[in-house]
Amino acid sequence: MRPVVFIGAGPGAADLITLRGAQRLAGAEIVLFDALTDPALRKLAPAARWIDVGKRGFCESTGQVAINALLVRHAQSGRAVVRLKGGDPSVFGRLEEELQALAAAGISAEVVPGVTAAIAAAAATQRPLTRRGSGRSVSLTTAMTQLGVLQASRTADTEVFYMAGRQLAALAGKLLQAGWPGDTPASVVSRAGWPDVLTTDHSVATLGEATAAHADRPAVVTVGAGALPVDAALAAHDRAAPGTKTPALERPPAGDGGGDA
Ligand code: SAH
Repeated sequence: MRPVVFIGAGPGAADLITLRGAQRLAGAEIVLFDALTDPALRKLAPAARWIDVGKRGFCESTGQVAINALLVRHAQSGRAVVRLKGGDPSVFGRLEEELQALAAAGISAEVVPGVTAAIAAAAATQRPLTRRGSGRSVSLTTAMTQLGVLQASRTADTEVFYMAGRQLAALAGKLLQAGWPGDTPASVVSRAGWPDVLTTDHSVATLGEATAAHADRPAVVTVGAGALPVDAALAAHDRAAPGTKTPALERPPAGDGGGDA
């Protein structure tokens, strides 16, 4: 049996897949793909059989157990199987369950990474997730627990929340409860990586106002250091150290205390 190849399709437009991902996809005979992957990727494997196993929000879904069974069955048929996932397979992609199902059946796997939504959002807004001195840690966090309960946290300088798009007002409340000050910058990016990407700016306290603009679009919410526009970060730095000409982001590390931006 050939190894099943998990490929991160990237978060949006087809050209965000990696070269390796595109090469592996071209060799596929069976492709099990998710809802958030670009249909244009089919051109990379036109002769393959493409099977939609998309699970999206509250839409009709193919259960995870059924997906695992399909993967195993197609791999056992001896054909070249690709599992194409949106973003990166290792980030909120149910990769664990699928690897376990394959391993239980004695089938090996290869994982080709992809660009995850948080990274595509940072590129869209041109707001680095890490900042020298003020943004030393990044957390990728799901806003939804396994049981579908909304929750928030404050575990890093920059926290990127996935799967919160439908409940931004409620997320604001949870963020305040988790200890984020109400005036902390919060950036919402939906359909990152697509031509119709939309980005809006808020504070933690006013995050709910983003609801209508991003309705029914996959979105991530970036909170904290990585949500601050770079010109605002520069202005804040200049206020803290008047007369300094060196941009904050080019200054030497501030040491463990941090906080120079
Ligand atoms: N494996 C994917 C995440 C899948 S979970 C990745 O690495 O990106 C699905 C969640 O990802 C969505 O609810 C949304 O929060 C986020 N997401 C996926 N694609 C997105 C996109 N193009 N723009 C913004 N957020 C996206």
